[in-house]
Amino acid sequence: MGELDTGELAVWAAAIYERLRAAYGRPDWRPYYSPMDELILTFLSQNTSDLNSGRAFAALKARYPEWQEALDAPVEELAETIRSGGLAYQKAPRIQKALRRIKEERGEFNLDFLGEMPVEDAMRWLTSFDGIGHKTASIVMLFCFNKAAFPVDTHVGRVTRRLGLAGPKETEEKIKGLWERLAPPEWYYPLHLNLIRHGREVCHAGRPECGKCALIDLCRYPDKTV
Ligand code: SF4
Repeated sequence: MGELDTGELAVWAAAIYERLRAAYGRPDWRPYYSPMDELILTFLSQNTSDLNSGRAFAALKARYPEWQEALDAPVEELAETIRSGGLAYQKAPRIQKALRRIKEERGEFNLDFLGEMPVEDAMRWLTSFDGIGHKTASIVMLFCFNKAAFPVDTHVGRVTRRLGLAGPKETEEKIKGLWERLAPPEWYYPLHLNLIRHGREVCHAGRPECGKCALIDLCRYPDKTV
């Protein structure tokens, strides 16, 4: 949005935050998975639904209660175990490579040290893994440690572009930077979840339901469905 300065964009972003909070509430941060579990789940969740990655993760944990067992397993066996998550023959070696590196670097399968690092350093460490991008690294940092990293997935990206805060071709990585500039860190968790919910329930990828949208007067999408 070339015509608005950062201050004006921040006012707009704050109105969006408040409106979503009024519509959906303010989800409180609570860690759900351990950082190790979250990291492995992020590998499994690539290019598949939450349902499928959840099934693959449950199968992996059932077969290999210890990470060392998943690391030592024949890669074909691991791939077979996580088959329900899709792309199993790509994901299995990546998971083993990550487990191997964590064990070598840290001496144990524990990522709690990331919570003690500056968030930029932790993001750099996470994204240096094959198959971990800004979105999944941000999820680990925000969901496990409540650190200031704003994950932008397909829903957050689409809603932000349609609102007009970002241009129609803006990358998800740029949109991550945009929200990190415009929103204070204490908003990241509820805002991320509420934008996803809004994208799933109202601002669908196909045809947005603008008639029931709480953001309609804040939105600059030229093809609103009303
Ligand atoms: S008005 Fe329509 S396009 Fe804009 S955010 Fe709402 S549902 Fe999406």
